[in-house]
Amino acid sequence: MLFSIEKKEEDDAMSYVDEVYELVVAKNPAQPEFHQAVKEVLESLRVVIEANEEKYRRDALLERIVTPERQLLFRVPWVDDKGQVQVNNGFRVQFNSAIGPYKGGLRLHPSVNLGIIKFLGFEQIFKNSLTGLPIGGGKGGCDFDPKGKSDREVMAFCQSFMTELHKYIGADTDVPAGDIGTGAREIGFMYGQYKRLTGLYEGVLTGKGLSYGGSLARTEATGYGLLYLTEEMLKCNGKEIAGKTVAVSGAGNVAIYAIQKAQQLGAKPVTCSDSTGWIYDSEGIDVALLKEVKEVKRARLTEYAAARPSAQYHECAPGSNVWTVKCDIALPCATQNELDLEDAKTLVANGCFAVAEGANMPTTLEATEYLQKNGVLFCPGKAANAGGVATSALEMSQNSERLSWTFEEVDSKLQGIMVNIFHNLDDAAKKYGMEGNYVAGANIAGFLKVAEAMTAQGVV
Ligand code: GLU
Repeated sequence: MLFSIEKKEEDDAMSYVDEVYELVVAKNPAQPEFHQAVKEVLESLRVVIEANEEKYRRDALLERIVTPERQLLFRVPWVDDKGQVQVNNGFRVQFNSAIGPYKGGLRLHPSVNLGIIKFLGFEQIFKNSLTGLPIGGGKGGCDFDPKGKSDREVMAFCQSFMTELHKYIGADTDVPAGDIGTGAREIGFMYGQYKRLTGLYEGVLTGKGLSYGGSLARTEATGYGLLYLTEEMLKCNGKEIAGKTVAVSGAGNVAIYAIQKAQQLGAKPVTCSDSTGWIYDSEGIDVALLKEVKEVKRARLTEYAAARPSAQYHECAPGSNVWTVKCDIALPCATQNELDLEDAKTLVANGCFAVAEGANMPTTLEATEYLQKNGVLFCPGKAANAGGVATSALEMSQNSERLSWTFEEVDSKLQGIMVNIFHNLDDAAKKYGMEGNYVAGANIAGFLKVAEAMTAQGVV
């Protein structure tokens, strides 16, 4: 009895933010990435929530925002080239539609599970809100690995995946796109199957090919946007990007176009990486060669090193990664939790002064905290990589009006959006007394719009 009274008093003393975090951990066991994403957001919202605690608590606003509106889990059977039937697990999490139709990519990677998709979907709510465009948050994917599969196998998989998914998506309800493992080839096969099943020629996917409704600059958008935002962040802190050495991780769509734009802005990106190894190129990365190796040949980075005398190839191993290279600016563009506390210490010791996330949640919570405490300008992925989904929303607009904009038009809109995002989060951080804390600024600015829309729409 005594225990339960004490327990109750303890509970009463607990803040709403902590209470909801505990609830998330208890209700979603074995989903560490989802817990991590929720923790980061809720911690930064503490001041905002505490100022409105009674109202938010009565409306169960936080319980609602951490609970997906709908979660779809489905079987994806397909036949491989040997005639063997393979079975994968498909997911689509429709997280929040308060400010627009669900929007977010499809990740195809063996590591995909419900917790990963939920972390990505949760991040997407705030990212999409920050773009200022009318898109809600969602994410999907499958534990299918496109690596090493023939085009026919990839098509068989994509058709089976879409055969189930098509029942739940649509141009005005849920609009998937690319993510790790889902590029132009996969989007093409999925779009074809959607059209075949529904008979609708509509903007149900983004990242489409230019001949069937895609947008110019969508391919480049995440990487370019990352650099537009980084440039603005540096400018507002009295620094400039030209002449700086940049460490980039990844060798996919985000990394490639981040490297390209960094070069256009006068910086020198010297690294990139894939799942097995990484490159240090003292002359600066050769983008044309990197594209040839990764986009055309779909080969390993050893091929890049073989063709480029100035490049050194290293196997990925503990303590051996791109963050060991001395740089001014670090752009993690590979995957979640790829930059940990040890890496953060190395970056700081080497004089790195800015980190902007091209991937989703690539920096661990401890590493983020260390970088911020040591005066490194740090911009989280939900702001820094929002250029991809923002340009997807521009693709949706073009599809709705059945027109295509020029590259320059899309690129200049993207630039405006990224600059705007930076100022929104900078202002939010200042307003809540956390100047320079762009993690808090991004979470607060992203949250407030969604919270207002949810409140206005009642208990749904
Ligand atoms: N997968 C990308 C992201 O993480 C893009 C999503 C989209 O274009 O819908 O934001």
